[in-house]
Amino acid sequence: MFVFILCCICQFSMQYKDFVNSPKSDSIFIGLIRGNYRISDFKNDPVVLWLWRSNSNNPEVDSLLKKIHLRKNFHLSAVLRWEAKEADDYETKSNKLYLAAQFDSSAIENFLSFISLGLKHRDPKPIITAFSLPVFSDFRNQLFIITNMVILLFAVVFMAGITYIVVKLTYYLPALSHRTRPRKHSQINDLIKSLILLIPILVLRNFYIIYICYSILLILILNNREKNWLRLNIIALLLIFILSLPINNFVAFLRQNNNSYQLYEVVNYDSFCNLETDDNKELLAYGLKQHGKLEEALSLYEDLYYQGNRNIAVVNNLANIYFLYDEPALAESLYHLAVITNDYGEPYFNLGLLKLKNIEYAKYSRYMEGARKRNFSSLSKEPIDIKPENRDFYRIIFSEKLKFNGITRSIYVLPIFLILILTFLPIKLSPPFYCTSCGRPVCKDCLQQIDEEIICKNCFAKFKSTKKKEIEEDLRRSVRKSRKRVKNLILYALNIIIPGAGLIYLKKHFTGMIIVCFVMTGYIPVFFPQIFVKPSGWITLPFFSIFFFIAIIIAILSYITSFSLIRRHNAN
Ligand SMILES: [Zn+2]
Ligand SMILES: [Zn+2]
Repeated sequence: MFVFILCCICQFSMQYKDFVNSPKSDSIFIGLIRGNYRISDFKNDPVVLWLWRSNSNNPEVDSLLKKIHLRKNFHLSAVLRWEAKEADDYETKSNKLYLAAQFDSSAIENFLSFISLGLKHRDPKPIITAFSLPVFSDFRNQLFIITNMVILLFAVVFMAGITYIVVKLTYYLPALSHRTRPRKHSQINDLIKSLILLIPILVLRNFYIIYICYSILLILILNNREKNWLRLNIIALLLIFILSLPINNFVAFLRQNNNSYQLYEVVNYDSFCNLETDDNKELLAYGLKQHGKLEEALSLYEDLYYQGNRNIAVVNNLANIYFLYDEPALAESLYHLAVITNDYGEPYFNLGLLKLKNIEYAKYSRYMEGARKRNFSSLSKEPIDIKPENRDFYRIIFSEKLKFNGITRSIYVLPIFLILILTFLPIKLSPPFYCTSCGRPVCKDCLQQIDEEIICKNCFAKFKSTKKKEIEEDLRRSVRKSRKRVKNLILYALNIIIPGAGLIYLKKHFTGMIIVCFVMTGYIPVFFPQIFVKPSGWITLPFFSIFFFIAIIIAILSYITSFSLIRRHNAN
């Protein structure tokens, strides 16, 4: 972790790097140590404050840092979150976290940390703060949420499929093992064959292999209605797979290993890396300008402008650079162009500033009024740039080449697709599968018929041994009763393991599947947290308890509904 933090601090703005390497930093540092300077003398210099902070552990620095305005800095915010995580008492944790939020108000890590802190210490204040942060409008957070939602959806559908297959297997396993060769029509033999059929579950214990093996096996025996549910599950999985292809680019972005992340970082954060790009000049130009690289930004904006790309951001931001370079005539003509062609407040505001500089007060107030009319106002003394929108980043990320292997490998999808095709082939064991009286598996060779009723040899012998009709009725009733008891036992066991599974066993597929999916949305983040994507540099206070709490509420609700539905079914 230490290495990570070191790495974070190294990435603190260019300014910081330059400063630390300069002799000036040594003299200030020694001055501070000897007491020649006081740290409050540097209250407006974040670079000195941070240098002193990382060497002295002085709490005064944090309070000074809180008071100055800084450009968003992801890395410093991460360091502070790490300190909050390591801190022992609530007060320090909360202070560090507030400072972290000041450095990077939009990081979703801060949002989650505040909620976690609030829940853990039963204090509503951090939770209110969390929801006041501009988290959901940030591009990185949007990708983070969309990506993990799609992963959750994928996992929920897959786990619902597994549950369906396992429930159907519990129902059909006796019949399946009775039908596999060698056919001996004896219970011991069926038991051994069942165990053999269960090998993939018992030995491999891999959900994917369970899905593949048993869905193929079940195709042989499921009726059409049951097959349709399997098909529906497979089609849903395939659709989500196709949907998840762009998500692979999102993941690359979140892990910071593609160009679009670097562009995003340059535009939004106080960290800079050398980027060469021909496609996204506009974003790069904006980023360069924010980092004070006016010359480079100017040449990019001029390129864009003279190549005919004259959208509002290019025109306005180029004019701003002319403004800063003291070329009022060039700036003004561009501002006028921006004002005529678009209805943004910023060029009005900037034009107003220009007029103020030329001491034309009447025009100044007129343009400022124009900006206000377009819902724009600012206290800035510098011209305001038009920032790239999330739309621009989405355009970039969707224009990147699709990757077929990311959150799922496409090779895994192929077998599932083949199973879908198999379900349409006419391969099926012929019914009946079970004795209508005791529920023992039967086949064509061992079944007996009384009137229209199909029963096993045992039941046939039992019923035929009695001469009297009443005694036969009694026998039948007791056999049926014990069969019902076994069935209920399995039913309740299944429903206790996963609420809703019991309903699938009762062939109430629709409600069963809905409840299983609902439960899975709660269970998956708790039992399989590793499947979700964490962006690089992910540091938060532990928030597992949030998901645990949600999972428990969902589970309680599902248990209540599923058991009451089962009871209602049994009562009928
Ligand atoms: Zn029977
Ligand atoms: Zn048989």
